[in-house]
Amino acid sequence: MESPELSFTLVYVVFALCFVFTPNEFRSAGLTVQNLFSSWLGSEDVAFIHYHVRRTSVTLLLHSALPIGYYLGMTIAVPEKNLGNIHQLSSSWKTFVLLSVCLHLASWTLVFYWSCHQWRNHPISLGLRAHTQPPFLSWGSVASSINTEFRRIDKFATGAPGARVIVTDNWVLKVTTYHVYMALQNDCHVTVTESRQHQLSPDSLSPAQILTMRVSSINPAIRPFDIRLNSTEYADLRDKLRAPIRNSADVVIHQTISELFLDTFRAQVALNQPYGLPTGQEVELCIGCMQVPANTKLLRLCDNESDCQPCFCRPMWCLSCLGRWFASRQDQQRPETWLSSTVPCPTCRARFCILDVCVVH
Ligand SMILES: [Zn+2]
Ligand SMILES: [Zn+2]
Ligand SMILES: [Zn+2]
Repeated sequence: MESPELSFTLVYVVFALCFVFTPNEFRSAGLTVQNLFSSWLGSEDVAFIHYHVRRTSVTLLLHSALPIGYYLGMTIAVPEKNLGNIHQLSSSWKTFVLLSVCLHLASWTLVFYWSCHQWRNHPISLGLRAHTQPPFLSWGSVASSINTEFRRIDKFATGAPGARVIVTDNWVLKVTTYHVYMALQNDCHVTVTESRQHQLSPDSLSPAQILTMRVSSINPAIRPFDIRLNSTEYADLRDKLRAPIRNSADVVIHQTISELFLDTFRAQVALNQPYGLPTGQEVELCIGCMQVPANTKLLRLCDNESDCQPCFCRPMWCLSCLGRWFASRQDQQRPETWLSSTVPCPTCRARFCILDVCVVH
């Protein structure tokens, strides 16, 4: 049994979530606030601040209209419920309509308040005003400094559309759905606070380490904010950012895909059967790094008899050195192929795959 009420609700909830969080499919279909209102918003490159003041305001108005949209859609989708007649509504529908209208009116009131005196009260303008101190004489000059620097092509820019990070010569900016955070490079310091690692897997095309950094300003009027970026972009950020970056002790930043791959390699090898050392045989130091005992042995365990060959070498390499060797022999542009390919043993050149690597016990 399928009720039109339930179907419409499901469709609308999915639509509303996609409209707010804009996945790529919605973006390419042009269903974004930026695209729908592009003529009124102007150009981000020409007037960055002006553009985002308008964009955040119209975003707030549209998002706050979604509950009313649900009610209006329901009156059309399910005409037999007679929702169009306000006087005959059930009390729960009346409450819903009342709250939706109040929410939307409140948004209009807020946007109207923001827009008074040339958007003087908008949160982005408040952020600009907090930076009004030498060398900036007015918040207008702060805005034009940001506008000018955003236009330069050598800025650092990254991140998903809902949380873009932009670093220009003097500014660190974070553009979100409802706000633009800003901090003057001279005033701020950056701390790496968290790192999340995504391993190479059949569904992700390359391993990734996502760093979270906190941007804090010595200006007490500027609230700290977090930015996120891929560790492979860290070097570019470092180039553009003059502010000091502090790293909390336990975050190791992997700047290349090969380094990122090591974690995936270790996790995969841990799933293979271990290798018991024959009695009397001693483990020597790894001949790659000379730092730790050689703790890997290649045994042909996979079913791939055409590509993999038996290796008779004694354990000579540690897991990290073997993982680096494995990554170095791969097509660097196509990490998605790494897990399934074979490489030669660094000593005897017998080919092996990741399933053939055993840890020595
Ligand atoms: Zn080693
Ligand atoms: Zn070998
Ligand atoms: Zn194999």
